[in-house]
Amino acid sequence: MKKIGVLTSGGDAPGMNAAIRAVVRAGIYRGVEVYGIYHGYKGLITGNIKKLGVSDVGDIVQRGGTILYTARCEEFKTEEGRATAIKQLKKFGIEGLVVIGGDGSFMGGVKLTQLGFPTIGIPGTIDNDIPETDFTLGFDTALNTIIDAIDKIRDTATSHERRFIIEVMGRGCGDLALWSGLADGAETIIVPEKEQNYDAIVKRLNHGIERGKKHNIIVVAEGAGSAFDVAKQIKQRTKMEDTRVTVLGHVQRGGSPTAFDRVLASRMGSKAVELLLEGTAGKMIAIQNNQIVAHDILDLLTKKHPFNEDLYQLAKELSI
Ligand code: ADP
Repeated sequence: MKKIGVLTSGGDAPGMNAAIRAVVRAGIYRGVEVYGIYHGYKGLITGNIKKLGVSDVGDIVQRGGTILYTARCEEFKTEEGRATAIKQLKKFGIEGLVVIGGDGSFMGGVKLTQLGFPTIGIPGTIDNDIPETDFTLGFDTALNTIIDAIDKIRDTATSHERRFIIEVMGRGCGDLALWSGLADGAETIIVPEKEQNYDAIVKRLNHGIERGKKHNIIVVAEGAGSAFDVAKQIKQRTKMEDTRVTVLGHVQRGGSPTAFDRVLASRMGSKAVELLLEGTAGKMIAIQNNQIVAHDILDLLTKKHPFNEDLYQLAKELSI
């Protein structure tokens, strides 16, 4: 292989730039040319492709978002769209591709692999919703952004003796809510993986008030429903009058990646190039027990990211 490509697709996540840098530099270090494909699969179809040098990825390791931009591309889901993409890749002489994105993007990558074009995935999403990897790129940064926000909200919650219900992202996955709730001592964490019993939740909240608590923090994962609906359910049943809702929204997707995400991106980017060059395809790079490993994408797409019951129980135990 003499030329490889890299693209970012689906939702952006902090750490994507660090991963692009790693792919480009690990490729050049190993003697191959690396091409950046702009706007995800859309750029593959339109031929928005440029060769990247060592300096093109300078000064981006610390930047959020993605310098290659990202997009959703319906055309790539069609056979004609993918045939055009393959033609473009051939035109540029690109023989392998690294796709940084979520499970939808990997599905696209697998389809290219099935057409004889080798693809390797890197999990880039703040949601941490990808199976067979302990962490996805961007999760740690988003988590720290949430923690920072909740710490600030906590100040006002205490001063005004208010209850705050905070909605965080995560799509169908409760990890951002679970980890931020545990890290911030939330009284209640509401996640899509667990059935909610509002009477039990309110009993815990009232117990806290009785022992003198001046505020409550409740973290709700977006996949478990709207924080406004949760507020309605709780308001009807509790003693604390003042309940406020904060939906954190897209601040969670931006910002400078944490050291953890930068290191993870660097390790994953380098591994992706190494595997591609040794002839591996159709795999996603993952981190398991601090080891960088690779998993078959078709296999992992049949699985679900496991919910961490131990952390959930611990959060309950520590918020009595
Ligand atoms: P994510 O990668 O974050 O899960 P999406 O599910 O929106 O995001 O997928 C990103 C892009 O990947 C889509 O816009 C499309 O171009 C491509 N893609 C998703 N699913 C498929 C599929 N089944 N076949 C081919 N391409 C797909």
